[in-house]
Amino acid sequence: MNARRFLSALVLLLSSATTFADDATDRLAERRAIRVTPELAVKCDQLLEKWKARFDEERFNYLVAPPYVIAGNGPPEKLRRYRDGTILAATRCLQKQFFKTPPAEPVLILLFESEGPYKRLAKKWFADNDVPYYGYFRHDNVMVMNVGTGTGTLVHELTHALIKPDFPTVPGWFNEGLASLYEQCSIAFDDTIKGHENWRLPGLQKALKAGKLRPLAELIADRKFYRPDLVGVNYAQARYLMFYLQEKKLLQPYYAGFRDTAKDDPTGLEALKAVIAPQSLEAFEKDWRDWVTGLEFRSGR
Ligand SMILES: [Zn+2]
Repeated sequence: MNARRFLSALVLLLSSATTFADDATDRLAERRAIRVTPELAVKCDQLLEKWKARFDEERFNYLVAPPYVIAGNGPPEKLRRYRDGTILAATRCLQKQFFKTPPAEPVLILLFESEGPYKRLAKKWFADNDVPYYGYFRHDNVMVMNVGTGTGTLVHELTHALIKPDFPTVPGWFNEGLASLYEQCSIAFDDTIKGHENWRLPGLQKALKAGKLRPLAELIADRKFYRPDLVGVNYAQARYLMFYLQEKKLLQPYYAGFRDTAKDDPTGLEALKAVIAPQSLEAFEKDWRDWVTGLEFRSGR
């Protein structure tokens, strides 16, 4: 989430408050905290207890903000900024817009300020040897993040963590499309989150121009989203489908419809057709391709 307007304003507000009165910042965070059950709050404390010795050994700072336990090698004020400006802010938005069922288990978020400790401790603590550049979300509810690269991937992985309890059978194409949408996003004060153009656009436009982009129905039906020959363009195609639906105000109804009918429609194709009706999928796809062609991404936005 690279310095978007609304988020910047929020971060600015919170970081200046941090400088002058940490107590006030904590009170603000508390007031806007995510509602969780007392059981989950207890589980978070227990999770921190389990990890404390390891954190202390590595001189990590940590804090509990249910459903999260957040720890990192940055200074305490930086950790609080991640908590307030990104983690809790994005959580409030995503839960308001999409996810009815909150996590029943805590999510551990590990924030590394640089690549060295990120790689070293991913190996030491999880035996993860070949880690992605930006960060990743593990099946045991741990997010391991190299935040030295920015916070866009933090929101991407948060989306995975929050969709999991709400839509456990979500297919990869939708999960990655929605998570990727928020790699570049803005958060408004009314707790709404919006995705914007990002670095995945040029590759998608190139494939489209070369006539190599397969129809949306094929992407959606393909159970092998992560197949090596198409994985890059698959992420981009899924992301810009989500983006288009967002712009048409169809993303929230599509998510809810898909989740609620996934038992009979596990790929989400029928739910997509239902949400775009009366337009046909062919006509929708033509409009979508024209829209993608006309988009622009300027790096450094
Ligand atoms: Zn992902």
